[in-house]
Amino acid sequence: MLFENLNLIEPILKALKTEGYTTPTPIQAQAIPLLLNRRDVLGCAQTGTGKTAAFAIPIIQLLTQDKNLKPGKRLIRSLILTPTRELAIQIGESFESYGRNTNLKYKVIFGGVNQHSQVESLRSGIDVLIATPGRLLDLMNQRHVHLNDIQFFVLDEADRMLDMGFVNDVKKVIAKLPAKRQSLFFSATMPPVIVQLADTILVNPAKVEV
Ligand code: AMP
Repeated sequence: MLFENLNLIEPILKALKTEGYTTPTPIQAQAIPLLLNRRDVLGCAQTGTGKTAAFAIPIIQLLTQDKNLKPGKRLIRSLILTPTRELAIQIGESFESYGRNTNLKYKVIFGGVNQHSQVESLRSGIDVLIATPGRLLDLMNQRHVHLNDIQFFVLDEADRMLDMGFVNDVKKVIAKLPAKRQSLFFSATMPPVIVQLADTILVNPAKVEV
């Protein structure tokens, strides 16, 4: 299996070539076709399996192909929620890398730093927002972020979200998402509380395990 067999658009194939990636990892080979077919996905996968590209690549592709958005207009159409600043930055770098030949714009927001530059970026318009839950809720409460246009929602490292005490924040964010969306849920472990949380987010999900 090669990336060339996954029906990816040329700008993404070119970016993968630049990265030197030719072969999808198992989670990428499973998840990319499902996501391009508009399925919700429940992924049991740890960091290091290539899960970031497994969701970033199809999201970049589907956003690029979105015909409902007027050229030149930007709306936050994808939200990635992740528990830590480090993970948020890494995910941002992945979008930057795989999306380098598209004109999508990404922003990473997290707490512990001044919010000014984050608010400025949001004002200038972005397509993909990568965020930790606390800072996202702060900015939502201040009306700097609206989630009305989200088409793709990713909950990354759900078990760590729970361990870090973010579950109520996550639920508050989810309550503001449009019902009609595609959702992706990743967790390294799947204890019953995680399965229950996934049930509230996903619709008829395809399960992917590595
Ligand atoms: P992740 O599990 O998303 O944190 O990715 C783990 C690492 O694998 C990252 O450094 C990626 O850049 C790298 N990676 C992701 N997909 C591939 C691939 N198909 N081939 C080679 N390396 C990859």
